[in-house]
Amino acid sequence: MIPYACPDINQDDISAVIEVLRTDWLTQGPVVPRFERAVVDYCQAGFGVAVSSATAALHLACLALQVGPGSRVWTSPNTFVASANCARYCGAEVDFVDIDAETGNLSVLSLSTKLVIASQNGTLPQVLVVVHFAGQACEMAEIARLAQQYGFKVIEDASHALGACYQGEPVGNCRFSDITVFSFHAVKLVACGEGGMACCKDPALAERMRLLRSHGVTREHGADEAWDGPWYYQQQLLGFNYRMTEMQAALGLSQLARLPQFLQQRRQLVAQYTALLGSGAVLPLQTPEAEASAWHLYVVRCRDAEERRYYFEQLRVNDIAANVHYIPVYWQPYYCTLGFERGYCLQAELYYATALTLPLHTRLGTVDVEQIVSVLNSGEFA
Ligand SMILES: *Cc1c(COP(=O)(O)O)cnc(C)c1O
Repeated sequence: MIPYACPDINQDDISAVIEVLRTDWLTQGPVVPRFERAVVDYCQAGFGVAVSSATAALHLACLALQVGPGSRVWTSPNTFVASANCARYCGAEVDFVDIDAETGNLSVLSLSTKLVIASQNGTLPQVLVVVHFAGQACEMAEIARLAQQYGFKVIEDASHALGACYQGEPVGNCRFSDITVFSFHAVKLVACGEGGMACCKDPALAERMRLLRSHGVTREHGADEAWDGPWYYQQQLLGFNYRMTEMQAALGLSQLARLPQFLQQRRQLVAQYTALLGSGAVLPLQTPEAEASAWHLYVVRCRDAEERRYYFEQLRVNDIAANVHYIPVYWQPYYCTLGFERGYCLQAELYYATALTLPLHTRLGTVDVEQIVSVLNSGEFA
């Protein structure tokens, strides 16, 4: 079976993890801060807070931006449920902004329309979580302008976009946002098994996320009178255990060194797909500002839901595991209990009905791509 995504672990990756296992530090040692620095250097962020998953990072990002009961958080429906759940963890209300039919990213037009109405109704969001779908950055300059105008904060869910660029700068530098979140889940561009990171340029935000990552407990006392010895620690907030282990960080460091190679391989495979699929298929649109996608996913569009099912099943029969990204988040039974109904974001629903994610990962060979395309071309795709 050719999987749609697959980790790429080499001997260096394995050795890096084994090296950590031979030390006395399996957690809270020196490797996690090294990994944080490496990601910060890579994407020119100010600060990086490594955590156990992107889901944890999104939760901490919301908390650091003071999301709580009574807050409103808006996000894209074309994403994994975690982009919305983070707001629910904080007791906030979630709402969805429809997507651009061609990129699958949150539509700036839908956003500005929705903001005008919300501003009239007094229901403006406190935070917007944008999702760089498939690895292509959203229109961040326009989003930042609206954030300024309407006074909301921006979190970038860059789970698909480590290594992507926007306007020639790396995603993660937070030029147009408050916090950027990466995922190091096994299927993502850099794999730690599980893992995530929140990057930001404000040291106070980073400090708050660090504190919340580890039970809200600190050993730093400043001028605190309660400090009564070197053993003393203090819980200042209700935090969590969202720490990343040293093994995960070691794997992440080793993988990050291979990211430029991964990105290049992905671009080559994409070019091959694009050439072989020809003009019959609706290929993923690349906007000029987001010229440098990280290509986490390669999504083609079918004419309708029936055709999508047909090709999905044809691929399965040929031992090829395609996938579908994404079921609109608000279609999930949990979100239906909050009052969301079908038809709420029409473009996201149309996207879901016709999208087909073809396998794309660095262990895919050119022969595999040829085989996948030949299955598609044996139907009426081309
Ligand atoms: C994978 C993913 C997440 C969750 O990442 P984890 O590290 O598994 O918690 C969140 N948002 C998007 C868009 C994702 O693809």
